Amino acid sequence: MCQDSQSNPPPGYSQVKVSRAFTPSDSGHQEIFQSLRPARASFQIQVVRRVESALDALNFLKGVEKNNRWSKKFVVLDCGTEMAKNLIIGHVRDVQMGRRNYHYLLSGLVMDERWEEDVKEFGAVNITGFRIVDTTRPYVRDFLMNWMTLDTNLFPGAGSNYISAQSALIYDAVTVVAEALTKLKRKKLDAFGESTGLSAPRGMGCDTTDSDQSVWEHGEKITRFMRKVEMEGLTGNISFTDEGKRRDYSLDVVEMTYNSETIKIGTWTDSGGFSTVPIKYTRPVSHRILTNKTYIVTSILEKPFLMLKKDTNATGNGRFEGYAKDLADLVASYLNVNYTLQVVKDQTYGAMDESKEGGWNGMVGELVRKEADIAIAPLTITSSRERVIDFTKPFMTLGISIMIKKPVKEKPGVFSFMSPLSQEIWTCVVFAYFGVSIVLFLVSRFSPYEWKVIETCTKSSVTNDFTICNSLWFSLGSFMHQGIDLCPRSLSGRIVGSAWWFFTLIIISSYTANLAAFLTVERMVTPIKSVDDLAKQTEVEYGTREGGSSKEFFERSKISVYSRMWEFMSSRRHVFTSSYAEGIERVRTSKGKYAFLLESVKNDYVNEQLPCDTMKIGQNLNSNGYGVATPIGSPLKERLNLAILSLKESGDLARLKNKWWYDRSECSKDTLTAQTNALTLSNVAGIFYILTGGLVLSMVVALMEFCYKSKMDATRAKLSLTDAMKAKARLSITGGKDLDNGRNQRSLHEMQWMTPGLQRNYIQGTSKRT
Ligand code: GLU
Repeated sequence: MCQDSQSNPPPGYSQVKVSRAFTPSDSGHQEIFQSLRPARASFQIQVVRRVESALDALNFLKGVEKNNRWSKKFVVLDCGTEMAKNLIIGHVRDVQMGRRNYHYLLSGLVMDERWEEDVKEFGAVNITGFRIVDTTRPYVRDFLMNWMTLDTNLFPGAGSNYISAQSALIYDAVTVVAEALTKLKRKKLDAFGESTGLSAPRGMGCDTTDSDQSVWEHGEKITRFMRKVEMEGLTGNISFTDEGKRRDYSLDVVEMTYNSETIKIGTWTDSGGFSTVPIKYTRPVSHRILTNKTYIVTSILEKPFLMLKKDTNATGNGRFEGYAKDLADLVASYLNVNYTLQVVKDQTYGAMDESKEGGWNGMVGELVRKEADIAIAPLTITSSRERVIDFTKPFMTLGISIMIKKPVKEKPGVFSFMSPLSQEIWTCVVFAYFGVSIVLFLVSRFSPYEWKVIETCTKSSVTNDFTICNSLWFSLGSFMHQGIDLCPRSLSGRIVGSAWWFFTLIIISSYTANLAAFLTVERMVTPIKSVDDLAKQTEVEYGTREGGSSKEFFERSKISVYSRMWEFMSSRRHVFTSSYAEGIERVRTSKGKYAFLLESVKNDYVNEQLPCDTMKIGQNLNSNGYGVATPIGSPLKERLNLAILSLKESGDLARLKNKWWYDRSECSKDTLTAQTNALTLSNVAGIFYILTGGLVLSMVVALMEFCYKSKMDATRAKLSLTDAMKAKARLSITGGKDLDNGRNQRSLHEMQWMTPGLQRNYIQGTSKRT
């Protein structure tokens, strides 16, 4: 064991002072001791002590500790695994012993041992040692996989993914012997003379006095073959020198860190000596946490983070409940420390306040003035606070949000049957109705097939069913899905009719589908839907909590909307509240004339609580996090950080969030958020296009029918095409005229396309013929 050169050895202990004159005779560490001559080493060996047990060694170290508590101590332990382990475990568990200033170097293969995982403070003392079984090698991994599956009754010690150095060495030794014997048998088939019986191997007695038996006749042969073995074993490469010593092997030089995790810092080989490997970790975790100290945790009474339990006579930390209390419990058990929860004196989070010592008030002030060791509360991580205190990684993320009073629900009005379609659709439908009726009237007028001759006893007349009145009636009847006597006969008229029917089919089915929802759902109309709406107006006032990060956010913001909001708020100081409770109450009682800007997690919580009359609107304004805070440079910081991250990874934080937010919801799920919206024109624009297309097509077809018929008549009556067209146009414009004495059906049908003069001639001609 060795100690700092400055410190004196403890008095009253049997010890050997190691100095320049020291030459230990029986120690395997002679070489080490000799190489550490003062000229070459920055320290000097002070004490070499033979110890009997771990307790003995611990007592000795306690004496050293008493003598000089603060000096650095380097302890080289050359003892069995059990003793070394017990000593170190005893050390880390002994509260009187210093830790950081101790460095153990273990000369045996103790680091291959399994170390108690529950002793989290192993990392607090420096332990360096050697490891021979490298569990990252495929050979060892394969072995351990099989090892795990073995029956523990038949193979005691199996069934785990770990093997001690000693067992590994025994395993390799047996494998080497087996390999040597196999080779021997392969090379010299009758090595032991079994077949001839001439030189059958004779056993060796355990009685060493029997000089005849003291050297086994085959021993030399077998050792020769053993020296030739070259193989891979659990302890690395196995090969031997001529003298039978192992060669070309390596040992890992390892350090023990937090949670008894060992990391490799170097390799030692028999040929190359010691070489370092890049260390895989970079962040040194502080170990100066005093587990026997009770830490003061400051927090704030804020639902659901911290609340006083109702109707209980509990004292101490038991008086409180909430997310922060549960989190503090988890963190404390992770760090293995005790804590006292205390509520911040001024009920504030922390803002700059020159009147206060340290320049800060609230929880931040308490940390700055070191009145508390840790703050576990909904304390937002901000840059200004980070300058004066340390934060861990966030344990919860949130953003500033808007809370308003839930607007009263709107009952369906008497004209709510109009709601399924938007106003623009209704307007377009009305125009479409008139448009279709007019087009139908026109195409029917111009299409010859729509004209018919009505014969009575006294007269015959040419008529067309689709007068403007009838066209309007036809369109209305179709729109209402009612049957009417009128039906277009011309192709063009039928095209108009089909397009309109299709149009009405879609419009009426969309209307029906939306109608039920509109008649049954009570809709909420929120006057403000986003932060922009809020910033634009002045009727609804809005504000934040005093002394918190939300106020600071608006004060410092360079974004125009937020700085405009800050101007509004700062010009009306009464909009700020001293607590969240006050702000929420103001929202509830101001009849929609006050909106509160608060952090989203609190907003979500309040909206789930009776009387369920508040709601969150719009997106969060920013993105922030709550962190556990400590005074700057606190040794707790890194451990707290690790604690928060592992609680997050293990799902504990998510569980706590559910427990305090959603499991305690007092409001039924609101279906009102799923509002039914009126159909807009863009939803049904397609059918308007189809209708328009149909109307245009029908007019084109009507024109073609008109031209075709005029051409036919012109040929038959030997007239010019222009005259025939004029005659038909006149008929179309003026409507049908009574025809005298028309009797012949075929002729009458033809006659309708003649001018009145032609008709007369035609009629006279036919009557003469008859
Ligand atoms: N969590 C905030 C803070 O740490 C307080 C609440 C607020 O400003 O909205 O300051």
